[in-house]
Amino acid sequence: MIRGRCPICSKTFSIATLDDLPPFPFCSDRCRLIDLGRWIDGAYAVPVGSSASPEAEDEASAVERVADDDEPD
Ligand SMILES: [Zn+2]
Repeated sequence: MIRGRCPICSKTFSIATLDDLPPFPFCSDRCRLIDLGRWIDGAYAVPVGSSASPEAEDEASAVERVADDDEPD
C-alpha cells in the first residue's frame, strides 16, 4: 500500500501500486496538469521591464511647476 498526498489539492490517497495512479504523486491528471502549468508559467516568466522611462514624468511635473517669486521686499 502506498499512501500519498497530492501537492496540488492536498487530497490524500492510498494505492496498492503506482500503476493504480499514473499521475502519482498527484491525485489525478488534472492536478498533474495544474502543476505542469505552474512550472511552465515559471519557466516562461519574463521580468517586466519598465519600458517607459520615469524621466518623462519628471519633465511633465517640471513644466507644471510654478515659480514662486512672491517674496516680500
Ligand atoms: Zn490533487
